[in-house]
Amino acid sequence: MKIGIIGTGYVGLPTGVGLAELGNEVVCVDKAKDKIDDLKAGKLTIYEEGLDKLFQKNFNAGRLSFTTSMRKAVSGADVVLIAVGTPPHPITHEADMKYIYAAATELAEYLTDYTVIATKSTVPVGTGDNIEQLIRTKNPTARFDVISLPEFLREGFAIYDFFNPDRIVVGSNSEKATEVIKELYAPFIDKTQMLFVSRRSSETIKYASNAFLAMKIHYINEIANFCEKSGADVAEVAKGMGLDKRIGNRFLNAGLGFGGSCFPKDTMAMAYMGRLVGTPIELIETTIAGNQKRKQDMAERVLQSVKQIPNAKIAVWGLAFKDGTDDCRQSPAMDVIGVLLQNKADIIAYDPKAMGTACRILGDKIAYADDMYSAVKDADVLVILTEWKEFSTADLQGMSQLMRHKKIMDFRNMLDADEAVKLGFEYQCIGRKIS
Ligand code: NAD
Repeated sequence: MKIGIIGTGYVGLPTGVGLAELGNEVVCVDKAKDKIDDLKAGKLTIYEEGLDKLFQKNFNAGRLSFTTSMRKAVSGADVVLIAVGTPPHPITHEADMKYIYAAATELAEYLTDYTVIATKSTVPVGTGDNIEQLIRTKNPTARFDVISLPEFLREGFAIYDFFNPDRIVVGSNSEKATEVIKELYAPFIDKTQMLFVSRRSSETIKYASNAFLAMKIHYINEIANFCEKSGADVAEVAKGMGLDKRIGNRFLNAGLGFGGSCFPKDTMAMAYMGRLVGTPIELIETTIAGNQKRKQDMAERVLQSVKQIPNAKIAVWGLAFKDGTDDCRQSPAMDVIGVLLQNKADIIAYDPKAMGTACRILGDKIAYADDMYSAVKDADVLVILTEWKEFSTADLQGMSQLMRHKKIMDFRNMLDADEAVKLGFEYQCIGRKIS
């Protein structure tokens, strides 16, 4: 099949690579010329485990190409996937739809034969109707259907998730479009659940799922606060809860709160939609406010720990919003750093993959270390903000010689607490009081 993909970001690019690997001819269009120039030169623009190899293979085989021309991506395509951003509106916090509607308007004039236009972006309920209307107005003779095909991939696991989806949700009001999508996803039909629902249900499934996961994270963080006061250990509590199949063990890691380019904006958009139709969703409203406070509270713990140390040097491990990605959008680590900077903190940071993206946001407001150990040299406290695996095997003995004060604030519960205490560290983690 010929596939056009509009937007080559964290969703569009791995999806394009995956569809090319399945044998399709994929043309990716993006209006960001610098991105397209890099991709055309065979240079990846994001970090994702396993992406590089598949990208090079399909790019060299000529199944995957990149362009800034909407016409090249759309005309003659069987399926056009829209994967542009839907960031929060700066004032109302609803999903800002300007990129979606711009893409729909631009693509309309290049539709030739019958085309399925599938929205991969996370969009408010009713968006499919609006896209359909826009295209029909711009190109009244075009033959097309608009479907919702929400994306559930996790950054850091985008390629794995593409080939091993938990489920594929197809929101379609057209039999013909459904058949095209069944053909596109034929390689997955035997190994995953495909759910066919109405377009509006599909649009809602995506928001309702993300909001639920965000609530789960916020819930375990509240339980962690309770454990710290009551003498329980949140890791043990989460393990015990997770053994109940109705609850499940995922998204029960207490920590800094949720972040990234999806959960914060999707919870806000879902809350907005609830208010819009006159049914405020209180659980989500509470989750949003609680998650915001969480990051402030964690930053205050850090400030408290260095209160007595003049010109304290704060070492930070982790800048990305989670491990496995270089994405710093809405990173809880960045939020904590923001509060620390407002308090004139002297910060040096290290992240295995996100130094470039973080530096583009923070510039020279902080210093950057080449590796985790140079970050802690002469530091007064180490704060762990992202759960990169390599942090869990840190040489604590060696670090105890490097640091000026032996203080660790492990907000991702990564280190061996007993060993840290034995080596004389003042060690704080989440959801457990260390004596
Ligand atoms: P992104 O910002 O990384 O990429 C979007 C790309 O679209 C950018 O490169 C931008 O230049 C391009 N673009 C915008 N308007 C365009 C236009 N008119 N023509 C061509 N290109 C255009 O965004 P993302 O993280 O890939 O997210 C895309 C959508 O997918 C969002 O709605 C998001 O909520 C959803 N989503 C994201 C994830 C994730 O993990 N990032 C997961 C599931 C769903």
